[in-house]
Amino acid sequence: MLQAWSQRLLGSRLSGALLRASVYGQFVAGETAEEVRGCVRQLQALGLRPLLAVPTEEEPDSAVKTGEAWYEGNLSAMLRCVDLSRGLLETPGPTGNILMQLKVTALTSTRLCKELTTWIRRPGASLELSPERLAEAMDSGQDLQVSCLNAEQNRHLQASLGRLHRVVQHARAQHVRLLVDAEYTFLNPALSLLVDALAVRWNSPGEGGPWVWNTYQAYLQDTHERLRLAAEAADRAGLAFGVKLVRGAYLDKERATARHQGTEDPTQPDYEATNRSYSRCLELMLTHVSHRGPMCHLMVASHNEESVRQATKRMWELGIPLDGPVCFGQLLGMCDHVSLALGQAGYAVYKSIPYGSLEEVIPYLIRRAQENRSVLHGARREQKLLSQELRRRLLGRGLRVPH
Ligand SMILES: Cc1cc2nc3c(=O)[nH]c(=O)nc-3n(C[C@H](O)[C@H](O)[C@H](O)COP(=O)(O)OP(=O)(O)OC[C@H]3O[C@@H](n4cnc5c(N)ncnc54)[C@H](O)[C@@H]3O)c2cc1C
Repeated sequence: MLQAWSQRLLGSRLSGALLRASVYGQFVAGETAEEVRGCVRQLQALGLRPLLAVPTEEEPDSAVKTGEAWYEGNLSAMLRCVDLSRGLLETPGPTGNILMQLKVTALTSTRLCKELTTWIRRPGASLELSPERLAEAMDSGQDLQVSCLNAEQNRHLQASLGRLHRVVQHARAQHVRLLVDAEYTFLNPALSLLVDALAVRWNSPGEGGPWVWNTYQAYLQDTHERLRLAAEAADRAGLAFGVKLVRGAYLDKERATARHQGTEDPTQPDYEATNRSYSRCLELMLTHVSHRGPMCHLMVASHNEESVRQATKRMWELGIPLDGPVCFGQLLGMCDHVSLALGQAGYAVYKSIPYGSLEEVIPYLIRRAQENRSVLHGARREQKLLSQELRRRLLGRGLRVPH
C-alpha cells in the first residue's frame, strides 16, 4: 500500500529512489554482479560468508507468471547465481563451503505443486509418486507419466524435473550446495518430494554430499516428527542429509488460509510453542550430526539469540567442531550483532543475500516487512545496540561487547 501511495504521490523514479535509500538498501545487495561482489567483500572482511538467493517470488495462483518461458528465464538466473556463488569464493579450489538458496517454485508452478500435494496426501499415491521414480526420470530424461496429472501437467512436470536436474548438476560441478526453501503447507509436500528425488541422486555417499538440503519450519505442528522420520530414513538409506532449520515466514498467510478453508490451523498456537518446537528440532539435528558427522549438515537459520546460544552450547557439549557440519544463517540487514559475534568466535556464518532489480525484489521486501512485525523484539534489541555503538563512537568511549 505504501509503495502504491508513494508511486502516486512522488512518481515512480522518486519513489524508487526512496526505496533504494531505505528498505532495498537495507535488505538487498544490489542489482548487478559487481554490486553483489562489493557487498560480499564487505561481509567477508568481517568473517561472514555469502548465501546468495535469487528472489523470484510467485504469488500462489498468480495468472501472470505462467508458461515455460518464465521458468526457463529463472533457470538461467539460477545457473548464473551458481557461477556467481562459486566466483565469490576467497580462495579458489574445490570446497564444500559454498552454499546457495534455491526456490523450487521458481522452476515449477505453484499450481502443479498444489496438485501434487493433494495427491501425495491421498493414501495409495505413494508408489507412483516415489522419489526414486522421479529421480530416475530426472537422470534419464525419459518421459514420465503420472496418472493423477493431465497431459499439460505431465509436460510441465517433465520440464520442471529437467530444470531442477540441470541446476543441481551445475551446482555439483561448481561445488555449490543448494538449500531449498520451504514455502506454504499446501506446497511443501510436493517441494519435499522433489528434494527427496534430488537427494536420491545427489546425496549418495560417493558424491561427498549433501548437495541438496531441505528446509524445516518449526512453526508447523508436525515438523519435529517429519524431521525425525526424514533424518532416520536418510540414515537407513545411507544418504547424506542437509537441513536448514527455520521458524517459518508465512505465519499470517497459513492462518488466513486455514480460516478461509475451515481447516485446522497447521501452525503452533503461539510464539512460545514455536520456540519450544525450534529447540526440540535443533536438539534432534545436533544429535544426528554428532552421530553421523559430515554425512549430516545443519544450518541454524535464525536471528533468535536463545536458539543461537542453545546451538553453540550443545555443539560444545557434543564435541561438534566450530567450522564443521553445523553453520549459522541470518538475513542480510538483520541482526548483524548476532552474525558478527558468531563469526568472530570462529563459527561458520552465512548471510542470506537477495539481489535483483527493485521490481524483482518487491515481493521479497514486502515479506520482510510482514515478518519484521513478529521479529520486532529482535529489531528493538538491535536498535538499542546500534544506539549504544553510535554513542560510543561519538563520545569516544571504549568498546562494549554485547552479551
Ligand atoms: C538464512 C535464512 C533462510 C530462511 N529460509 C526460510 C525458508 O526457506 N522458509 C521460511 O519459511 N522461512 C525462512 N526464513 C525465515 C524464518 O523462517 C523466520 O521467519 C525468520 O528467521 C525469523 O525467525 P527467527 O528464528 O530468526 O526469530 P524470532 O524473532 O525469534 O521468531 C520470529 C518467528 O517466530 C514465529 N512466530 C512469531 N509469532 C508467532 C505466533 N504468534 N505463533 C507462532 N509462531 C510465531 C514466526 O515463525 C516468526 O517468523 C529464513 C531465515 C534465514 C535467516
